[in-house]
Amino acid sequence: MRVFTAALATETNTFSPIAIDKRAFEASLYAKPGEHPATPTLCSAPITVGREVCTQLGWTLIEGSASWADPAGLVARTTYEDLRDEILEQLRVAMPVDGVVLGLHGAMVAQGYDDVEGDLLARVREIVGPNVLVCAELDPHSHLTAKRVAAANFFVVFKEFPHIDFVDRARDLWSIAVRTLKGEIKPVMSVFDCRMIDVFPTSKEPMRSFVDRLYGLEKSEAGVLSLSVVHGFMAGDVPEMGTKVIAVTDNQPETGAALAERLGRELFAMRGTFMVAQVDEHVAVDVAVAATKGPVVIADVWDNPGGGPAGDATVILGELIARGVTDVAVGTIWDPIAVQICMAAGEGAEIALRFGAKSAPDTGMPIDKIVTVRKLVPNAEMRFGESFAPFGDAAWISFDGIDVILNSTRAQSFDPSLFSAMGIEPTSRKILLIKSTNHFYDSFSRIASEIVYCSAGKPYPNSPATTPYRKARRDIWPMVENPW
Ligand SMILES: [Zn+2]
Repeated sequence: MRVFTAALATETNTFSPIAIDKRAFEASLYAKPGEHPATPTLCSAPITVGREVCTQLGWTLIEGSASWADPAGLVARTTYEDLRDEILEQLRVAMPVDGVVLGLHGAMVAQGYDDVEGDLLARVREIVGPNVLVCAELDPHSHLTAKRVAAANFFVVFKEFPHIDFVDRARDLWSIAVRTLKGEIKPVMSVFDCRMIDVFPTSKEPMRSFVDRLYGLEKSEAGVLSLSVVHGFMAGDVPEMGTKVIAVTDNQPETGAALAERLGRELFAMRGTFMVAQVDEHVAVDVAVAATKGPVVIADVWDNPGGGPAGDATVILGELIARGVTDVAVGTIWDPIAVQICMAAGEGAEIALRFGAKSAPDTGMPIDKIVTVRKLVPNAEMRFGESFAPFGDAAWISFDGIDVILNSTRAQSFDPSLFSAMGIEPTSRKILLIKSTNHFYDSFSRIASEIVYCSAGKPYPNSPATTPYRKARRDIWPMVENPW
């Protein structure tokens, strides 16, 4: 057997001011055929798992290029077309193949392409013809368009959010692909449109139990090969945005459709109950000030660079300053220009500095202060589980009892080590202000006396009912109360 594999992925927040070109992929992952590292990125596990699987079976794996850019705004048209055409050419050269197993994200949007993955998959199908297996692993924060469903045999989607299971799902993808190529099964995909959009963290109820049931059903239901929830991605202004359920069965489309519908209607019935309750910046500061011991962690949940925003909002910091709150450390505010100025001024310098809130409307006002440059760290890094996440050249500045870390590479606040990397002991401050939606929880909960989830300003289109979409469908909840 000859199987072709490649990866092309990013998550596009079409409202983000941060445009993406080839350099953004090169900064995160751009690997030519055979050059993909042994450890996978979020969307390239089909390549590394494919190496194991094909070696074991004695099959030939033909690797194409693999690209991943961190979440941001629209991808430049030529960047997408170049990366796409590179993979398509590699596939043409590899022909004939028995299967194509891809690592995609599913929420990539490029200038002129609302449905990037649909475009790529349709072109792959055109090359290989109707009888070759085409499948892909997807992130649940994606758009399941009709064009994709028509072009691929099946998809497997990460079940967990945070996405701790991307390698396990790549194994599922390959396991179904192998059984198909051996002629043991014939996967067909049934899709149910839930007519809704929401955010579904699986680390808490009610989604935790729902996902656990999916694992159970995959084992117990005869003929069911894989069950997935495409959460949808509300920051992607594309026509087919929304939540969908996929049931992949062994050629039992009716059974799959019925099961997908049953599960999808359950999700719809629980709409609006999935997220942790959030408070505004006034209440967040009230709670933090009232706490008798620290550190209280205030998470700026929507100005999270991991979802595409710039990460330079100052709404909560502005509230802390206005109320004269001290004993605060902020990590981080993205402002490469301010970092450059601090680097030029040097450690110990006292300078007038304007920083933050330059990238987008509704993210607060730039802060003007006489600051002391306390510490400068080139190429700073924080821990993220077993690995490290870079946040670029960084400056620790302080003023009025507040410490702020300015960074030059956008990064969400994964871990308290972002403070210690700069010389600030995080447990020594009463209030830690960070930017992250969900990923921060595991590490920060170990040192926090309390965690406050704060929704401040509008750095992210987090309320679909009022988001000024131009392309997204408006016949789903919560744009309409009852879409059925
Ligand atoms: Zn995701």
